[in-house]
Amino acid sequence: MSSRNLAIGGCACVLIGAVVGLLWPRPTRLTFLNVGQGDCAVFETEGVAILIDSGPKDSTSDAGERIVVPRLRQMGVDGVDLILLSHPDMDHIGGTGAIVRAFPEATIAASRYFQHNTQLLEQLRKWGKRPEEVKWLGPELKGSLGEFKIRIECPAIDENQETNDGSMFVSIVDGAASAVFTGDAPVKAEEAMEPIGGWRSEVMKAGHHGSRTATSESWIETVRPEYAILSCGKNNRYGHPHKEVVDRLEADGVKICRTDREGDITFDFLNGRFVRE
Ligand SMILES: [Zn+2]
Repeated sequence: MSSRNLAIGGCACVLIGAVVGLLWPRPTRLTFLNVGQGDCAVFETEGVAILIDSGPKDSTSDAGERIVVPRLRQMGVDGVDLILLSHPDMDHIGGTGAIVRAFPEATIAASRYFQHNTQLLEQLRKWGKRPEEVKWLGPELKGSLGEFKIRIECPAIDENQETNDGSMFVSIVDGAASAVFTGDAPVKAEEAMEPIGGWRSEVMKAGHHGSRTATSESWIETVRPEYAILSCGKNNRYGHPHKEVVDRLEADGVKICRTDREGDITFDFLNGRFVRE
């Protein structure tokens, strides 16, 4: 895939300039992989593949190796251009090592506020990546990928704050086809982002696996999603998704999609919208 080259500018306002091939055999689609208790979404457009988080890894299981890499191959993804790490918790970054082994051309990008995060630095070492090879993003970056506008907001945090508080907010928009990702950001981070505006999205990944710590009524009103994705493991020990979040979404008429019950959740780009497969 020499024709593919996704470049990220370091400038505060300009993020992604995409130089893509003239032919893109794969359709535009957005897939939330069923990685158990963790997150991994795959956005493909114009031959470029971006991952938002990479699935969980613990002492017994590596979702990157077991699930993400095989699924990407099945989906026909023959290269990963960018892996956005929402924040350095293992249920979000754990699969990265397996993915960069399978797709060594992948660029890893993370919030600059995690540049000194011990866990992330330790994992980078294990993945054979130097910190200088990571694209450290923030606070706000905007760019485009084909017709899609991509915006990333990285909340500023200090080292005394929880990593969840620094979860990056990612928005992808092409007209009505739009999605927003907030990692494990808590309600106070949602509140801080609301005034910035432009969050209205057809597809919303519910924050923190459907925990009651996220997805406030106010955030739902801000995003006004048609679909909410709850990415969580079957019978997980946290009780995610929490009932009050599910109730809140249902009361607002949002269609709920759960990876623990439905497996992978795929949206095709059809007539200018994301349409559930
Ligand atoms: Zn998480």
